[in-house]
Amino acid sequence: MKNISRAVTPILLAAGLPGLAIPLGAQMIDDVRYDVVFNAETAQRREIHVEMTFTVAGGGPVTLSLPAWTPGAYELDDFARNVRSLWARQDGAEIRWDMADFDTWRVYPTGPGEVTVGFDYLADDLDTSAAWARPDFTYFNGTNLFFFPEGGDLSFESLVTFHTEPDWKIATGLQALSSLEYTAADYHELVDKPTFVGRFDLDSTQIDGKTYRLATYPEGVMAGADRATLWDQIQRMMPPMEAVMDDVPWDEYTTLLVFDPEFGGGSALEHSDSHLGIYHPSFLSSPVLALITAHEIFHAWNVKRLRPSDLWPYDYGRAMPTELLWISEGITDYYADLALVRGGIVSPDYFYQTTQDKIDEVRGVPPVALEDASLSAWINPRDGTSGIYYSKGSLAGLMIDILVRDASDNRRSLDDVMKALYQGAYLRDRGFTEDEWWAAVREAAGGASFQDFHDSFVDGREPYPWDEILPLAGLRLQADGERVARMGVMTNIDSDGVVVVDVQPGGSAGMAGVRAGDRLVSVGEVAVEDGGFGAAFREMFSDRPAGTTYDIVVDRAGERLTLTGKLEFTETTASRLVEDDAASEKARRIRNGILTGAVDG
Ligand SMILES: [Zn+2]
Repeated sequence: MKNISRAVTPILLAAGLPGLAIPLGAQMIDDVRYDVVFNAETAQRREIHVEMTFTVAGGGPVTLSLPAWTPGAYELDDFARNVRSLWARQDGAEIRWDMADFDTWRVYPTGPGEVTVGFDYLADDLDTSAAWARPDFTYFNGTNLFFFPEGGDLSFESLVTFHTEPDWKIATGLQALSSLEYTAADYHELVDKPTFVGRFDLDSTQIDGKTYRLATYPEGVMAGADRATLWDQIQRMMPPMEAVMDDVPWDEYTTLLVFDPEFGGGSALEHSDSHLGIYHPSFLSSPVLALITAHEIFHAWNVKRLRPSDLWPYDYGRAMPTELLWISEGITDYYADLALVRGGIVSPDYFYQTTQDKIDEVRGVPPVALEDASLSAWINPRDGTSGIYYSKGSLAGLMIDILVRDASDNRRSLDDVMKALYQGAYLRDRGFTEDEWWAAVREAAGGASFQDFHDSFVDGREPYPWDEILPLAGLRLQADGERVARMGVMTNIDSDGVVVVDVQPGGSAGMAGVRAGDRLVSVGEVAVEDGGFGAAFREMFSDRPAGTTYDIVVDRAGERLTLTGKLEFTETTASRLVEDDAASEKARRIRNGILTGAVDG
């Protein structure tokens, strides 16, 4: 049963819209526009001022919600918590409002006419799903700022007008009407366009007939050789990614990057024709920046367009768990690795090392099924498996690629699976199901059953059968079965030395108190000057007993600290992914196919 307020019904009919599910007593809105105010004054308070204006045909209440999450960031963030000083007006007069729940407001128009709801949004969260302001700059996601009518449909068009300093710039994927006015065809599009406002660097280039823009903050942070390097990497990574789906469904793609020394590590979030990345400055010119960039751009196909039906359409009010996140995230990660090696950005050896790192990562955590790890994304489990669907899903992609190539004598590959689903589901305006995924895999593999594969390695927790699968692609794991001293840190090297970008919880360095952002000065008696310190550290401590204490000297924001680590080792699982010299001619073709994207016949 529906209860549509009487004054609204004729307008719905006139607009030719089907009946809509509207909360009891609530009414539809029309002529939606948003005003976004960010200038030197609001920047001082780290606030973005937002106004939403719409017309109503009657006097019934309007319910407006803010999203609980930003698609792609599979966590509930409840952006409503950042709302301050909300008000509602009609014809210049304040009107009544109250809250319907913690992220929903109910506004009570006094009759037909134009209503405006305004608030200030606290932009102080340096996170890719959030909003963050500096004295000369802000970025935000539409999910942070833009109300949607609760229970109504999201197909309404809207206008966004920016109010900012005359010499500040705007970079956004929204459709431009002028330098300050933009439109979105529906709410999904409106909140899928992260936006920069303020002072930043912006340039663009053409790749295969499409425009690619690069916006970086702060000004000057990515200039000269660093900028040229990323542009060169993007130029090289695009053709191999374009070849997978054989369709480039955008005219313009924008890469938005923030570099900030307060940010430990690197993080990026995908959108349909843009992505937002936040990095520690040590990522400048690192191949890891290129890997993450490729991952996010490939997402514009895989998850933003080709998407599990559990996520179609996005529901902004609730968590949307899916057993298929390993496809959306893990296989995207596999294609990022492939884009770099196929584009000549990294060597095959780098690809093997990246793959080996993923094998080690999976071996280092409790056995977990890909489908279960996918579902758990929303709660970040604390047993070590959080996020394992990236590396483990990527390796599943490699295995499926090898099995499809082997079954088809290298005439087909994982690319055919992706392309079939893209055409069969996304181009028909819907998500894909698990059955459709495996049907596409079977089809590409000439009818071979993947039931056991699914039961053991996707729904099950069996260790991956590398000794059986890798030789099919002329590869093997060479056992390096020695004890290896491990600090449990991920580091990056820049012109000033070695900086910690991630610390493994419970690892030797983590227990000693090392934090992301610390610069390593020395480890034991090993002076840390470049990436060679790891090998020197392992060499120096290889014969000492576990638990031996050693000094870790770090520079933390200019202060020198001496921390005490206890020696830890990983043992027996160590291996190295190498090319198999004894590989058959067919296995060599498959290996070459993976590295270049080629298929035979
Ligand atoms: Zn991703």
